[in-house]
Amino acid sequence: MKILLVDDSRAIAMVMRARLESFGYEVKHAINGEIALEFFQAEDFDLILMDIEMPGMNGFEVTTRIRAQEGLEPWAWTPIIFVTATDTETNLVTAIEAGGDDFMSKTVPENVLQAKMKAMSRIAAMRARLCQANYKLQDQANRDGLTGLLNRRAMDMQIDIAWELARQAAKPFSLLMIDIDNFKKYNDHYGHQAGDDCLRAVATCLGEQIQLINDDRTAPGAFVARYGGEEFAVIIPNASPGVHAGVAASLVEAVHGLGVPHEKNGDYGVVTISVGAACFPHAMGQIKTLFRLADDLLYKAKDAGRNRAEVA
Ligand code: GH3
Ligand code: MG
Ligand code: MG
Ligand code: MG
Repeated sequence: MKILLVDDSRAIAMVMRARLESFGYEVKHAINGEIALEFFQAEDFDLILMDIEMPGMNGFEVTTRIRAQEGLEPWAWTPIIFVTATDTETNLVTAIEAGGDDFMSKTVPENVLQAKMKAMSRIAAMRARLCQANYKLQDQANRDGLTGLLNRRAMDMQIDIAWELARQAAKPFSLLMIDIDNFKKYNDHYGHQAGDDCLRAVATCLGEQIQLINDDRTAPGAFVARYGGEEFAVIIPNASPGVHAGVAASLVEAVHGLGVPHEKNGDYGVVTISVGAACFPHAMGQIKTLFRLADDLLYKAKDAGRNRAEVA
């Protein structure tokens, strides 16, 4: 357990630190409220032991600020125990009101201190497990179950953010709409289960290609999502104009290159995709116009014979 010890008295802090360290805990000391807030912003702590009377910001104020900061994150709550020389009922009530979790005297007996710390370390362990579970849940809620790509919901949220940033900076913003060719025939011919495997293979391929253009800095921030059914969308914020054309062509080539047999896909013999790639060079206008443009281009690619990208 990592403890942030806030106390303006070096002597008291030294004694408390020695006691806590003897129980096996890691301790960091902040000599005043301002420094405590700095440490809190920079590092994660499992517990904060907070003095009340301090010059400048007192312990209640520091706690109020910590809670306000945590309020931005729905799951954040670092336990805070007030440790004070003036063990009054009023102080206890104010401490809890300010967002503290417990209250103890600076002269707390060794066994009581040790017991309280043991209870707190149990809470710390539980918080860590909750945090992990929450992270996992959030990730699952953002992913499409079949392909593991971002789902439509997550895509919509990410697009809103990326679009707003691009719009404010008048940066280029590209959208690629991708659709698997003759996929209904694939299902009819190979079965729905094989259809699912095919979707996964195409999704993985698209994901890898997008990872590549992120890694080689061609289009950092680009992402791919399952738009629905056998359709995918790639968003390329902030790339130089023209990059979307190259990306669209490489996606078509990569999926064709997978060589997944598809007897009913015209003369191609393998699974292919069609892509409509639209770009707003200065992210002006409305995002839905960009969607419409990409959609129109996608249908143009279908009309022109599939396994290709149409680019604006
Ligand atoms: P086009 O080249 O014009 O796009 O033809 P298409 O057959 O791909 O287009 P259409 O929209 O007619 O068919 C899409 C098919 O995708 C129909 C649907 O059953 C299938 N599909 C959508 N979602 C899934 C899925 O999750 N799994 C499987 N196996 N098939 C799916
Ligand atoms: Mg003090
Ligand atoms: Mg479709
Ligand atoms: Mg299709």
